[in-house]
Amino acid sequence: MTSYNFASGPARLPDAVLARAQQELLLRGADGACAAERPFTGAAFRITLAHARQRLAELLALPDNYRILFLAGGAMHQFSMVPLNLLGDSRHAAYADSGYWSRRAMVEAARYAEVTVAAQFAGSVPLAAPPLHDWRLPADSAYCHITPNETVDGIAYPALPDCGNIPLVADATSCLLTAPLDVARFGLIYAAAQKNIGIAGMTVVIVRADLLERPAPQVPTPFSYRIQAEQQSCVNTPPTIAIHLAGMVFDWIADNGGLAAMGRLNRRKAALLYAAIDASDGFYRAPVAIGHRSTSNVRFHLADEALTEAFIVAAEARGLSNLHGHSQIGGLRASLYNAMPEAGVVALTACMADFVRRYG
Ligand SMILES: *Cc1c(COP(=O)(O)O)cnc(C)c1O
Repeated sequence: MTSYNFASGPARLPDAVLARAQQELLLRGADGACAAERPFTGAAFRITLAHARQRLAELLALPDNYRILFLAGGAMHQFSMVPLNLLGDSRHAAYADSGYWSRRAMVEAARYAEVTVAAQFAGSVPLAAPPLHDWRLPADSAYCHITPNETVDGIAYPALPDCGNIPLVADATSCLLTAPLDVARFGLIYAAAQKNIGIAGMTVVIVRADLLERPAPQVPTPFSYRIQAEQQSCVNTPPTIAIHLAGMVFDWIADNGGLAAMGRLNRRKAALLYAAIDASDGFYRAPVAIGHRSTSNVRFHLADEALTEAFIVAAEARGLSNLHGHSQIGGLRASLYNAMPEAGVVALTACMADFVRRYG
């Protein structure tokens, strides 16, 4: 039986990447070291780092005035690093509330900044991203923060807001590299690796060079975007093996047609699953409005919530794991990042149809 892990993160990695990692980790070079054993100051790791950076820049068609950082820690570290580094001389930051993670980012930012809620999502069913017009953006806002894909809520923005001259900052943890992205629309993008880029412990930050010039004297050295950019993410020991694996994932994406191909595949997978939900005569329900439904994190529930546990047991018996929703929200959630093959979604929809036959 082929099994599929639908976890929201750490999530499934591409089979080809795991096979390559298994080989490479056992391979000690002439220096007596494998990929996990090399000093970060040495030539071999610097090649790994440059490769990952170059590959990511190619995938994103990154404009020249952006820098890529590979930093230790998770997305939540960025909830503090963003205000610490970007507030500059301002005390104000704008945050759009689109669900669980944007709120948590806002709570952290409020420790450093006066936060304006720029826009608010519809908290009742059908759930939707904040409307794109009439955002509250005080002129002295240092930046405007959005979460383009809300991993817990299963909500995705259908388009980006227009913030004028105010730099747009995005927590793209659950959507970076799932589809083409116009980086030039953003001042800064960050994404923890464990959803769609590699393994836990590393976060990618893509930052426009002019934002590195903002004064930030209180920022601890390893948390300083400017100093990390100047020192190629090597202020202290970076997460070397996580960077190595991310480079392999970037290679895999490039080998499989790049972001346009990922976007097509992800739309197809999500469409299959949402169609199965919508065709179930209300047995399964997706609470997010059409047009705002995430392709990465498909949230749904059973009309009869008492059957949720039975569904999870039935799915696990077929090798379909980690389908429970976020602990704060309940219900079901299938995360369909790049590494989830279409066959995994087909297996899930077959399980759903069987379950209807038994309990419908
Ligand atoms: C998973 C996730 C986080 C939290 O990431 P950590 O690396 O655990 O801090 C934050 N934001 C979004 C959008 C996420 O999907």
